[in-house]
Amino acid sequence: MSALNSPSEYALSHVRKLHAYTPGFQPKGTGWVKLNTNENPYPPSPMVDEALKEAMGDALRLYPDPRSMALREAAANLHGLSPDQLIFGNGSDDLLNLLVRAFACEKAAGYLMPSYSLYPVLCGIQNSGVVELPFDRSMELPIDELIELDARILFITSPNAPTGVGFSNEELAKVIEGFDGIVVVDEAYADFAKETAVDLLSRFPNLVVTRTFSKSYGLAGLRLGYAMADPSVVDILDRVRDSYNVNRLTQAGGLAALRDQSYLKAVVGKVKRTRDFYRAEWEALGWFCYPSQSNFLFVEPRNASGETGPEVAQGLFEYFKQRKILVRYFPSSPLTASFLRISVGDEDQMLHVSETISKWLKNA
Ligand code: PMP
Repeated sequence: MSALNSPSEYALSHVRKLHAYTPGFQPKGTGWVKLNTNENPYPPSPMVDEALKEAMGDALRLYPDPRSMALREAAANLHGLSPDQLIFGNGSDDLLNLLVRAFACEKAAGYLMPSYSLYPVLCGIQNSGVVELPFDRSMELPIDELIELDARILFITSPNAPTGVGFSNEELAKVIEGFDGIVVVDEAYADFAKETAVDLLSRFPNLVVTRTFSKSYGLAGLRLGYAMADPSVVDILDRVRDSYNVNRLTQAGGLAALRDQSYLKAVVGKVKRTRDFYRAEWEALGWFCYPSQSNFLFVEPRNASGETGPEVAQGLFEYFKQRKILVRYFPSSPLTASFLRISVGDEDQMLHVSETISKWLKNA
């Protein structure tokens, strides 16, 4: 030990250089309008509460089902798949991690910029190479360039984050068909979208679709997600996961949520209506807003003098924060620096946001 300045120097050299993922700010105290991490403003199905109470108590002495079979069966039923096409994890982040663990490293992982900023972090942990392909301002899928990427696994977020733009199955099929490797379509926001790549699974054995309970089901705190793929890919992922990667309470709560599809539809319907209302309202102010198929809006604010740009976006971000409204600002790329990502809240929260925008415009 004496030759080292700190025991951290025993860590692998690539790990010493890592930067941890930066999650959205989690405020302490009350009174915040929290629209910065795309959580659901509505509570989960009341069935979840009941199922969790039932799962408490003596049964917690026992390990959970290592394969989360009840969940695999219920989700297979929901999507018209067979249970051997499904695997569950501790949030969809767990599945994304398993995918990088199993398919990246010797050869790079590819993804688009901007998209979910966890992909490079997972690749860094795994010491995998990365190939990043930038979008242009249209935020449309660069199909030909994606097919040509020198990578073994490709991550496509659809609908994309932070833009909310969804890609059609027709576009995705071209990429999946042409790309020599695994294509992961990260469908964290698919319940708010027009189409799902699940319909492509029967055509493409190299396709993996991931889902989460954190958004549409309102269960970010429970940590549950799943992947759907060819049984041979699920088998590979099963070999690299933690043995008990979904705890007993989460399995019980998640199953109850999955079974209550009418509740899910009602909540998703409310969020979509609110989203479309506010997109139209902000467009009426002359603000550009990408067409969103998710539960958030990526909007380019324009100040009272008609200006847009990073200073305007950051100015509104700070103005919101001083008034306890949290949204997300991504200053690091010119494609995102003039925008704010605002998660769709409930009607009261959105009214408050809207009134705050009116005040900001008047005070300028
Ligand atoms: N994929 C995308 C695109 C996301 O935005 C998020 C949530 N930030 C996730 C995956 C992670 O979801 P989970 O909470 O299930 O880990």
